[in-house]
Amino acid sequence: MAKITKLEDIVSLCKRRGFIFQSSEIYGGLASCYDYGPLGVELKNSVRAAWWKDAVQMRDDVVGLDCSILMHPMVWKASGHADKFADLIAECKKCNTRTRVDHLTEKAEEAEEEHTKHISLDTAMATAQDLSNKVCPNCGSVGQFTEPMPFKLMFETQMGANIDDSMTMHLRPETAQGIFANFKNVLDTTRIKIPFGIAQIGKSFRNEVTTKAFIFRTREFEQAELEFFCKPGTDEKWYEYWKESRFNWYINLGIKKENLCLRNHDPDELAHYAKACVDVEYKFPFGSGDWQELEGIANRTDYDLRQHQRGIRTLNKWFESDRDLTKIELSKEAEDYQSGPLSYFDDEQKTRYIPYVIEPSAGIDRSTLAFLVDAYDEEEVRGETRNLLRFHPALAPVKVAVFPLVKRDGMPEIAQNIYNDLKKYFNCFYDEKGAVGRRYRRQDEAGTPFCITVDGQTLQDTTVTVRDRDSMDQVRVSTDQLLNHLREKLEV
Ligand code: ATP
Repeated sequence: MAKITKLEDIVSLCKRRGFIFQSSEIYGGLASCYDYGPLGVELKNSVRAAWWKDAVQMRDDVVGLDCSILMHPMVWKASGHADKFADLIAECKKCNTRTRVDHLTEKAEEAEEEHTKHISLDTAMATAQDLSNKVCPNCGSVGQFTEPMPFKLMFETQMGANIDDSMTMHLRPETAQGIFANFKNVLDTTRIKIPFGIAQIGKSFRNEVTTKAFIFRTREFEQAELEFFCKPGTDEKWYEYWKESRFNWYINLGIKKENLCLRNHDPDELAHYAKACVDVEYKFPFGSGDWQELEGIANRTDYDLRQHQRGIRTLNKWFESDRDLTKIELSKEAEDYQSGPLSYFDDEQKTRYIPYVIEPSAGIDRSTLAFLVDAYDEEEVRGETRNLLRFHPALAPVKVAVFPLVKRDGMPEIAQNIYNDLKKYFNCFYDEKGAVGRRYRRQDEAGTPFCITVDGQTLQDTTVTVRDRDSMDQVRVSTDQLLNHLREKLEV
């Protein structure tokens, strides 16, 4: 029977092998913040690169951006974050722990096969919250909660040194708004035409009420977001397209089909502007094996661009109110919104409209965790346990390791030459210390797909062994064929 991976196994492997460390560990650590170590940074870079390749490089209809984390405060007023980006929380009267109301479970609720839902603040506030049978996840008390209250999720900071012009700013809670704010810049500087997308990968910050499960939910994290602009009326077709395309991205990178699903949002989860939303969920090994969101794909209609048109019209009020967002109401003028500054002119049909947006929004850290969990395996080999990460080659932090069998007879020099040649093409690792079997095991645990060994036969016929991580089979390959052989296998 296949072993069920536990999160503790992953956390311990990550620390032992230098994938992920607790932030500020030498000072006792900072909760919910993590640092990616030497293998982790390569893995995360590979996840980013795989997303970018699929979303931008391989497509003619998507371009990229890299926007600043700090943006004009009016961006967050227009987007709705300044007023509404909050979670409804309740505090346990026994232990004072605050929990998101939508994360509380009923006393007798079956945890098995549970899907976590994020009910929108509007819905949560509007629906009567009966917490009398809900359990505190910290102390286990039942029905001991305060009245639910909203908790703002954006991090605040101050910008500027002068008292007169310094102002309160927010760290972006999502990367998407940088894309909407640059929609016109991209239209004006490229020849791209609708339907087209703008993609961005970058850090986002949310003062999450509870953080949990290692890098699954943290307060600083990385998102990969794509805003795909299309003509109203074609949005449902593109929504279906992106659903399938994003699901397949995970499968093509090795996630097992039985661990991945698409879950349509219930009406009480939908943000008021969203026409439809679906989550790509992964069966994470937390609790009793929960389905949890990896990525959301939403039909955001023309909401964001319309909101920013209203924001632009409201800019004068921002100055008049002494830059106090709480005193501002967004302009209600909507009569000319179809021809406003963020509208799109369709050359062929000679019409002007505000495009609809389909948004696939993924988490780089969350998907990195899913790739780690899914690749993790343990098996018995000749009475010993072999730990390995069966990463897809595109994600493996090290693609090829090169070893001399022993440290004599010129083997290290030949192995070094091979290593120096191959590292021009992909991430390689050279190791000559200890028994070769142990070196193989270390690479298995790091997820390295291939190990090359220079041995006695290499000195006679210039062939080396290439060992496959998953099957442990070895084949002999001539050194002049090595690069081609590996490229074919690694698909790089
Ligand atoms: P949740 O319900 O889990 O709080 P969300 O629905 O608020 O998530 P989105 O706003 O849709 O999340 O963000 C898109 C993606 O960004 C998520 O699917 C996830 O992969 C990632 N993400 C969001 N919040 C966090 C976080 N606190 N830590 C790590 N990744 C996150």
